[in-house]
Amino acid sequence: MATPNGARDPGQPAGKAPALPRPLRSLEVKFTQIFINNEWHKSESGKKFATYNPTTLEKICEVEEGDKADVDKAVAAAHEAFQRGSPWRRLDALSRGYLLHQLADLVERDRALLATLETLDTGKPFLHAYFVDLEGCIRTLRYFAGWADKIQGKTIPTDDNVVCFTRHEPIGVCGAITPWNFPLLMLVWKLAPALCCGNTVVVKPAEQTPLTALHLGSLIKEVGFPPGVVNIVPGFGPTVGAAISSHPQITKIAFTGSTEVGKLVKEAASRSNLKRVTLELGGKNPCIVCADADLDLAVQCAHQGVFFNQGQCCTAASRVFVEEPVYPEFVRRSVEYAQKRPVGDPFDAKTEQGPQIDQKQFDKILQLIESGRKEGAKLECGGSAIEDRGLFIKPTVFSEVTDSMRIAKEEIFGPVQPIMKFKDLEEVIRRANSLEYGLTAAVFTRSLDKALKLAAALDSGTVWINCYNTIYAQAPFGGFKMSGNGRELGEYALSEYTEVKTVTIKLDDKSP
Ligand code: ADP
Repeated sequence: MATPNGARDPGQPAGKAPALPRPLRSLEVKFTQIFINNEWHKSESGKKFATYNPTTLEKICEVEEGDKADVDKAVAAAHEAFQRGSPWRRLDALSRGYLLHQLADLVERDRALLATLETLDTGKPFLHAYFVDLEGCIRTLRYFAGWADKIQGKTIPTDDNVVCFTRHEPIGVCGAITPWNFPLLMLVWKLAPALCCGNTVVVKPAEQTPLTALHLGSLIKEVGFPPGVVNIVPGFGPTVGAAISSHPQITKIAFTGSTEVGKLVKEAASRSNLKRVTLELGGKNPCIVCADADLDLAVQCAHQGVFFNQGQCCTAASRVFVEEPVYPEFVRRSVEYAQKRPVGDPFDAKTEQGPQIDQKQFDKILQLIESGRKEGAKLECGGSAIEDRGLFIKPTVFSEVTDSMRIAKEEIFGPVQPIMKFKDLEEVIRRANSLEYGLTAAVFTRSLDKALKLAAALDSGTVWINCYNTIYAQAPFGGFKMSGNGRELGEYALSEYTEVKTVTIKLDDKSP
């Protein structure tokens, strides 16, 4: 299993294997309203929208639908909570960290519930939600909790009659717009650094998956964050998302989603008040398998790298380049893996792949599969939906893929593995770097020289050597080129949520 944020593989701790966690079978969804000032609100318009279970296509519940008026209310609350002298601003830094630790405690307490909600809303396997998403959330909260009282400025040397130092101050009200593929984890990646630096936040979860964010709102209140520090407005992109991106009192925005919408967010941010923007966008990530690689490891990692989370990862290994001598064997073993991948009920502990998120994504994936066939790639397995089962797609492998095909250029965001061939390193570097994306890359080789040469040559924010999706809360994550701006996670994330102020003091020259 892929391990974002260094999560354990399920069922693989040392010693006696503990019982696997279980989902909550009868779950009442309690939090469906807009969260402002630590209170639950109906939408100003009176509108609601439905959220669906992609496994059964049944409605889970209705959620209050925010719009600009609700964003204005949320921003006013966040702005008030950020004023000088407010309880949040008066809180000492260590106590801010303590609140984040307490939030992590409550996420641990409600871990099975949150993983169940995430599975209901996204269709991802429950054990993945539990061991990857929730583990990542807890680690990220604890990592940034530790930073709260360690964000230090510097004393700058000038001359004897001057004292010059910097203060790293919170920016103010931060907007967070999150996607549906890792709904809670992507929110925590934004919330934890924003709060540890002392900001206040207005969040818009993806319309497909608002439920875990709203449950987190209840935990924020239970922990005792001051009212207005975190506000959550569910709703749609062109309404709530656009209102956040263009709000004049929001001073920073963090967005994870498509490159197309990322451009809109940045444009709205520029036009309104030049708010700071971090973007975590798409990827078409090269996974390079050299002939000297441990082939078992490479096949397994490339398989998990592309099929994990139903292929709905910005980090998906969706361009696999394999060196010619091992190409036939790599394809053969990859097909074996894909054919064995258990697809089905995400609450079943054996399931590795659930449904796609919605009809729109499902249709887009099938269309891209069709384009692969038409453009001459060889369909090795899969290639269609699983009949009579809603939004499920068979794990699909294409060989004989060339760079000009759509499946080699466009983000598929589905369970489709395009495998290409390469002859030498310079050629694969050029081809890997040829797209406008640059999020992640992976290299499989036993040669230190090749590994380090490729690590330096690949245009991407992350390079994994002999591993895949190994993401840690303490290591930065983000993209080169059109895969994004700025970094999330690690110490680097702190600079995205702080302003640097220079204070220069002239001393009295007359004093001895
Ligand atoms: P996808 O295409 O995978 O659904 P999106 O980039 O559309 O990804 O969505 C990511 C997030 O961006 C979601 O919360 C969505 O509601 C939001 N969003 C969509 N359109 C806009 C917009 N015009 N302005 C701001 N946010 C938007």
